[in-house]
Amino acid sequence: MIERDIHMKLLLVAMHIEASARAVPLGPAMLASVVKRAFPETVQVSLLDLYLHQTAEACAELILATEPDWVGFSLYVWNRGLGREIAQRLRQRKPTLLLFAGGSEVTADPVGVLGEGCLDLVLPGEGEDLIVEVLGRVLRGEAVAMIQAAIRPSSVPDLSTLPSPYLDGTLEPAAYSGLLWELSRGCPFRCDFCFESRGTTGIRRVPMDRVLAELRLFEACGVSQVFVLDPTFNFDKNQAKVILRLIAAEAPASHFSFELRSEFIDAELASLFAAIHCSLQIGLQSADDAVLRGISRSIDRADFEAKVLLLHQAGASYGFDLIYGLPGDTLAGFQASLDFALSLAPNHLDLFPLSVLPGTRLHDTAPGLQLRHLPEIPYTVLDSPTFSAADMDAAARLAQACDRLYSQGKAVPWFALLREAVELPPSQLFLRFADHAEAHPDPDTTTLQVAFFNTCLADPMAAALAADIIRYFALSGTLLEGRAESTKDPLLWLRTQTQMATFQHDPGHLLEHLEAGVTELAALAFLVPANPCRFLLYLEGEGVHCQELSTEEATALEGLLGGLCPDSEQENARRFLDTVLIP
Ligand code: SF4
Repeated sequence: MIERDIHMKLLLVAMHIEASARAVPLGPAMLASVVKRAFPETVQVSLLDLYLHQTAEACAELILATEPDWVGFSLYVWNRGLGREIAQRLRQRKPTLLLFAGGSEVTADPVGVLGEGCLDLVLPGEGEDLIVEVLGRVLRGEAVAMIQAAIRPSSVPDLSTLPSPYLDGTLEPAAYSGLLWELSRGCPFRCDFCFESRGTTGIRRVPMDRVLAELRLFEACGVSQVFVLDPTFNFDKNQAKVILRLIAAEAPASHFSFELRSEFIDAELASLFAAIHCSLQIGLQSADDAVLRGISRSIDRADFEAKVLLLHQAGASYGFDLIYGLPGDTLAGFQASLDFALSLAPNHLDLFPLSVLPGTRLHDTAPGLQLRHLPEIPYTVLDSPTFSAADMDAAARLAQACDRLYSQGKAVPWFALLREAVELPPSQLFLRFADHAEAHPDPDTTTLQVAFFNTCLADPMAAALAADIIRYFALSGTLLEGRAESTKDPLLWLRTQTQMATFQHDPGHLLEHLEAGVTELAALAFLVPANPCRFLLYLEGEGVHCQELSTEEATALEGLLGGLCPDSEQENARRFLDTVLIP
């Protein structure tokens, strides 16, 4: 029987890697919602966001300042250490506090986490039903040791029984720069390295009426970025299509991030993705079927290519994950996977070393596979019979170079063209780039890219063309990313929504020929002769427009920008902007 006049203060703590659009305390908020519903008059719940860069001492201070009776932590692989240190300090400062934890690290290693001796209770599995049961027992005065002894890993069979922390006001969407949006739990696949594969194999879905209500709330709150929590969003194609149509109708301005399986992409799904603002991530992991079979995955390369082509043709933005250090894989095999991935023109590539996470099947099989890994966070593979420590270092260097040159360097529009001109497979090009970046470090990625291709291309005309292409796409990318409110003030428009630069070749003509399908640098050099000039790049509609400037116009605009334009010229410059350029 719960005492009505008890008022306990529960603080649920999220420890994020860093402040980012993904740093949303959805897990703690889900628990907060069920606790509020179960104990509306006895438990007062609040949330606290902490970050890895904060000291344990500072975090403990922030927690104690809320004067809690109970503190619950969400523990993941990256924050277990910080959580332990905070709990140690809380234990010293206020011994009467009830301290408990849940989250994937607790699910993977409940005995180990409890054995660290800082916590009273650990709640493995999905916590919503379990926390209500456990807090009810605590309120009834049961001994903590008895409660812990009775705890079993929990899961919520029917997600429609859970309240939405967005809809009940626990999480205020407008307070975050992005939102996590849970659409399902569970995964039907059994990849050995993944924690998801250890739970129940079925997928449980959030009911559609809640999906719609949350979507409408996000739109009403002006949410700009939504990260969909569903590791295989398109496993049920029909359901995925229904949700994509809802997004197009209800939240057309927001950007969504999805994780997909390639097998379940079809042309209709591809065009529905292309019709909304979204980015898609596909777990490729390796392009070698034999390697993938070693971790309970597989790939049909022809099917993968065909499905990705559907996304490409529809105009959807997609990227891949690749893992190095997989059992049975080699450095050469990883390079071949990288070359395969790049041949499909992804918008970005995420390359990771294999981690052998506690609680996964791979953790159990690693000794038999002679897969040596760090015993603690981040559990990264050190070596295996086929992937030596030196190979792991070489793969890490390759991954870094790929990230800098390709993903960070926004090289998608020109990578194939320049790589063809250099006549190297992508992995070899990245190795050469790594050498160059180490010998001639430059914090500016575009400058580094230009300098690198200058060393690769023997023909100075080709190098000048490459430099223009790289710089044009870097500048237009900056404009598109920084898209601001339109303004009628010419000077403000010039300062915030344009880029001025000198090109050796007319970028507008270059773009026309690239869009018309010219795929060789030599052909482009023939079609677009050098003609150095100043250009003004500015946003027009969904794209970037390029305006050639006369010497007088360029001088006037530069003077206006630098505040050096003589009064007599200002009027001319402003009129030029007003009448000629502003869309
Ligand atoms: S890696 Fe993806 S597909 Fe494989 S088990 Fe994990 S969530 Fe499922």
